[in-house]
Amino acid sequence: MKSVTVIGLGPMGQAMAGAYLGSGYEVTVWNRTPARADELVARGARRAESVEAALTANELVVLSLTDYDAMDAVLAQAPETALAGRTLANLTSDTPERARQAAAWLAERGAVQLTGGVQVPPPGIGTPDAMTYYSGPKDVIEAHRPALEVLTGIEYLGEDHGLAALYYQIGIDMFWTALTGYLHGQAVAEANGIPAEDFLPHAVKFMDLRYFLEFYAPRITAGNHEGDVDRISMGVASMEHVLRTTQASGVDGSLPAAVLKIFRQGVTAGHGQNSLTSLIGVLKRH
Ligand code: NDP
Repeated sequence: MKSVTVIGLGPMGQAMAGAYLGSGYEVTVWNRTPARADELVARGARRAESVEAALTANELVVLSLTDYDAMDAVLAQAPETALAGRTLANLTSDTPERARQAAAWLAERGAVQLTGGVQVPPPGIGTPDAMTYYSGPKDVIEAHRPALEVLTGIEYLGEDHGLAALYYQIGIDMFWTALTGYLHGQAVAEANGIPAEDFLPHAVKFMDLRYFLEFYAPRITAGNHEGDVDRISMGVASMEHVLRTTQASGVDGSLPAAVLKIFRQGVTAGHGQNSLTSLIGVLKRH
């Protein structure tokens, strides 16, 4: 019978264990707070009484913990011999460096880490378009492809264990900063008596950045920062208006002030007449 262990039953781990149960897997679960396993156990999962029992129950162990410190805390509860021969699909997010260190530490104990960066929230687990970045040994990923694909599709990035974490962090960097921009704009809207849902269609248009992402990427690659369509000096004037509108609305201005500060750094560095993309060079210097 197909079987897997899931360690860590936050919203993500619960969704993963649930997806395995729904696909007919024999699922062993362990969580620091045992009660989080109750519902899964009621659906047929086996509750491991210890981390050691969870690790040794199956060759494939899915880890879904807050961060790698949590992973260290969990694995410290089991004898290291319990790791030998295991494949740990580590879908815990953290830095590329932590991912590489953990993979090396596990390898010394006879275990293989597959680093994963899940690209969807828990309700997306088990849905057709969901993807996870993976890095680590390709043959091991291929050996476990059917089990991994119960959760999401596989976007394989390479052998370097840090790559999946790196791609995930870059994506999350873009996601959080863009989403915070959305929340900031909605705060200004609300402060001016515009309900969030009324502004929604306008937000959807402004935040449809695909054209810009695709327009700028080849120019960034080519190092072409010509100010033929946009100039940082225009960006500075524009962000000054945003900041003043924000402040006049009684809304915290720290986000537009931070953007304005970066734009001004671009001008100070001599790029006032160049495209916003020249900020990449300015940002990389810090
Ligand atoms: P949570 O932080 O809610 O839960 C993670 C689990 O970590 C819980 O089971 C918790 O145990 C456990 N844990 C935390 N600290 C310790 C510790 N010191 N010792 C033992 N166990 C510990 O995370 P999520 O379930 O939301 O996400 C899991 C991972 O997936 C994270 O790395 C997250 O970044 C990533 N992810 C999450 C997404 C999301 O939308 N939620 C989307 C994409 C990736 P306990 O129940 O006892 O507290």
